[in-house]
Amino acid sequence: MADMNDARAALKHYFGYDGFRPGQEPLIAAILAGRDALGVMPTGAGKSICYQIPSVLLGGITVVVSPLVSLMADQVAALEDNGIHAVYVNSTQSLDEQSAALAEAASGRCDAVYVAPERLGTQQFTNFAARTRIALLAIDEAHCVSQWGQDFRPAYLGIGDFIAALPYRPVVAAFTATATERVRHDIIDLVGLRNPQVSVTGFDRPNLYFDVIKAVPSVKRQWIERYVTARPDESGIIYCATRKETEALADDLRDRGIAAACYHAGLPAEERSQAQRDFVNDEVHVVVATNAFGMGIDKSNVRYVVHHNMPDSIEAYYQEAGRAGRDGEPARCTLLWSDGDINTRRRFIDRENDNERLSDDEAEVIRNRRRVLLDVMIGYCRTTDCLHRYITSYFGETDAGPCSGCSNCDGEFETIDVTRIAVAVSRCLHDIRELLGTDRDGRPGCLGAGKITQMLRGSDAQEMHDWRHLDSADSYGALEDVPAARIRDVISQMASDGYLRIRDGKYPLVDYGERAAETARTDFHMVIKQVERPVSGGGPAS
Ligand code: ADP
Repeated sequence: MADMNDARAALKHYFGYDGFRPGQEPLIAAILAGRDALGVMPTGAGKSICYQIPSVLLGGITVVVSPLVSLMADQVAALEDNGIHAVYVNSTQSLDEQSAALAEAASGRCDAVYVAPERLGTQQFTNFAARTRIALLAIDEAHCVSQWGQDFRPAYLGIGDFIAALPYRPVVAAFTATATERVRHDIIDLVGLRNPQVSVTGFDRPNLYFDVIKAVPSVKRQWIERYVTARPDESGIIYCATRKETEALADDLRDRGIAAACYHAGLPAEERSQAQRDFVNDEVHVVVATNAFGMGIDKSNVRYVVHHNMPDSIEAYYQEAGRAGRDGEPARCTLLWSDGDINTRRRFIDRENDNERLSDDEAEVIRNRRRVLLDVMIGYCRTTDCLHRYITSYFGETDAGPCSGCSNCDGEFETIDVTRIAVAVSRCLHDIRELLGTDRDGRPGCLGAGKITQMLRGSDAQEMHDWRHLDSADSYGALEDVPAARIRDVISQMASDGYLRIRDGKYPLVDYGERAAETARTDFHMVIKQVERPVSGGGPAS
């Protein structure tokens, strides 16, 4: 049986490399030992080698399942250049070519055969599989099996059946760049990985400095103007949530004499590609854009990415912010946010029911998933922990190194003890349940964050007195001395932390979360970040 010494020799022989990267070793060792594997690494980190090396060492062929038919010819050609014998079978070939490729794969001479997931279910391929010794089934872009992601591809769900129908079970190894914990579980469950070696590595981008600033819209704008003005020679991208904001901010910058390009999907194609070209060729240094900008743009010297609004998920944020510093040199990723951003994002999600193919229930499930993703994003804005670690642990990487730079670890914030407020909110929810009873669906009565805040502040609004005796609750007026905005912040943080849960419906209602009981404990303690700190745009770049 081949071992890691053989693997290192093969790495040198076929690829000319002297050593494995951190995540590769445990995955290859597991596969060689006959154990399933799940490799989660960002693009470019070196997933392919994790199945290509075993393909030459295991006795039998490796079937590589890949969704990208258009890349297969190139992938196979690259392997052949390195002396690894591989073929592909896909719809770009004539039927004769397909048969010839399969015959070659069955001949025993081949190390690997690349196919799309749809092919696994065809008679032609199951015949091949029944008479060929498949040593390893490698699944590329394995997140496509999960409906949690944007890339769901139904044919991936057939992989499990394909494995089950084989005369004996090969080692199964799945690879992806975008696996959050939910997606990882889906991959393990739906593909049917058995006790896999899971390796998550390479998500940290140590050369990026992460910075989070809470600011109202006018301050955001001033900050950006100052920041960009202070860096006339650096390339940067400024992401805005809407086309309108993109245009307004680009105009603002131009008024200040900064050549800024504007990019969003509503502009004519020619204008867009001009903006892209100008940016890539350093004709303009700054692009103000919506999230439509960036796909397929290869510019390594982007020194900063500023978000003018909170994105709707950490995935989206990291993808956009990650366009900074591709050259490995220091770069800064600043996220500016306001409470208004949260409301806007929530409204976007609520309104998103225009997908006619979905039933009401399915649409609601999807909206709820998006709400969960948004809560994690809000958590990033409010967390007092290291921002690098917040991101890497979200992607499931638990043993990334120490922080290489972020505004939290630099201690640029203060915390406020909000234990008393959190406890009062929790008690208020209890009072509301008592006063409201259950609703028509049997769920405990709840109110929105606005009403809860009014109650706690002892508001004199007529409905406090007239409706359900809200003013008779013990918690009524319990936080008379606390500003409403602070109570709202705490409610929001409690939802991010799991003490509360925002219940969906026409209006978001505040209910107890899975950690609610902790707020009743005597040792319960909660702090929030003092987010309004003085902002200066001209500070150190990176
Ligand atoms: P992924 O599939 O994760 O996107 P690839 O497998 O295409 O990444 O690898 C990205 C690049 O890194 C390739 O050029 C590959 O040859 C190189 N590479 C992979 N592993 C190593 C290694 N151990 N040492 C040096 N280079 C490597």
